[in-house]
Amino acid sequence: MTTEANSYTSMRKRNQIRIIGGGIAGLTAALALQSKSMDYQLFEKDSEITYSNVGFGISANIFPILEEWNILNETKLIGAEIKKFYFVNEKLEHINSFNIKQPALSVNRKLFYKIIEERLYINNIFLGLNKNIDDFSENEIVISAEGINSRSRQILYPNLGLRDSKQILWRGISKIELDEKFKNSYFDFVGNNLRFAIIDTGCNTYSWYAIKQKTSNEQPIPDKNALFKLFKNYHPIVNEVILYSENVYFSELKDIDPKRRNHLRWYKNNNILIGDAIHPTTPNMANGGCLAIEDAYLLSHLLNDDKLETPEVFKKFQILRTKKVNSVVNQSWRFGQLLHQQNNILNSVIKFGMYMTPDFLFNKIYSTVLVETKSIK
Ligand SMILES: Cc1cc2nc3c(=O)[nH]c(=O)nc-3n(C[C@H](O)[C@H](O)[C@H](O)COP(=O)(O)OP(=O)(O)OC[C@H]3O[C@@H](n4cnc5c(N)ncnc54)[C@H](O)[C@@H]3O)c2cc1C
Repeated sequence: MTTEANSYTSMRKRNQIRIIGGGIAGLTAALALQSKSMDYQLFEKDSEITYSNVGFGISANIFPILEEWNILNETKLIGAEIKKFYFVNEKLEHINSFNIKQPALSVNRKLFYKIIEERLYINNIFLGLNKNIDDFSENEIVISAEGINSRSRQILYPNLGLRDSKQILWRGISKIELDEKFKNSYFDFVGNNLRFAIIDTGCNTYSWYAIKQKTSNEQPIPDKNALFKLFKNYHPIVNEVILYSENVYFSELKDIDPKRRNHLRWYKNNNILIGDAIHPTTPNMANGGCLAIEDAYLLSHLLNDDKLETPEVFKKFQILRTKKVNSVVNQSWRFGQLLHQQNNILNSVIKFGMYMTPDFLFNKIYSTVLVETKSIK
């Protein structure tokens, strides 16, 4: 973090902006405001700004934003461009592959957070503070970026529950030498109600994840032995990647069904919700964090527009973001459901469908949906 804080403090009318949460939404909101010389304070409940050592996909639409914030080149140095996507079966046999028209970037999430954190003014960041919207006055604008379990959202909409996909995920990063074909690629092993992915993450590392539909009384644990057992019939590379993983992290995949928040405002009075706090998504499109970055970018633009009153800013923000956000959340949910079929016949039908999918359709779903930029203008 840098210490030049107050020399840039602006006298703009909206100069008391407070951010709750130092995840990707909060950090990029801070960076976006700072890049416009707007003042902010960020509060993170944990004692440091960081994230697990896991992979993070950044879609191409985010590159111009990172460039505007002067962190694109640095981000590219820590990651790998993903130019090719392979669907394979458990034996690593080819089902289909696609060249990604607008390649994404795959990075180690921990390193990416570090790049952002290092740009932020140290005096504007308050760690170890668990904040509530009630802690702030009416004159302050409060951006709630507290993630999927956002307390601000729970206060605003106590009945808006999370939707449980019943899918569970393990992930990590492995330092390992793999065959040349894994470079700049995303390998997705599909079928048997299981998914395993190996993604080039740059610097001779590969991020990986495993997803499984949960059975009713299963108590999954972040343990390599359990994963070895699960993937014992797979190509040996799967267990090798798990073996070399520095750590294994575990998540249950949940979101909020867009239909349930259709008529709800993402804001109230001086408070607005961004990122997972209002539109969490399952990670099948690897895009929830990118949506949060877009939120931060757009919100900073609108807040910097002196012609707009704050309620107009919030209203416009929600109108501009709803379509894109809902489309990613819905696609991600459908994709997750599609790939986790218990039924063998359906499994074969899906593999056949993947085999038949033309390149343009893949790119329409993976690129066009993700990289559109209308929602941030
Ligand atoms: C397995 C998995 C893989 C994913 N992969 C990708 C990917 O490759 N690409 C992508 O774009 N997205 C990905 N996502 C989605 C992405 O992780 C989320 O969308 C993103 O992290 C949301 O960011 P956020 O800042 O809104 O919330 P969070 O990351 O949850 O951050 C919230 C922060 O707020 C803090 N906080 C909470 N309450 C308070 C409080 N009261 N006071 C102070 N601080 C508080 C928390 O400690 C935390 O630091 C993935 C998600 C999962 C589950």
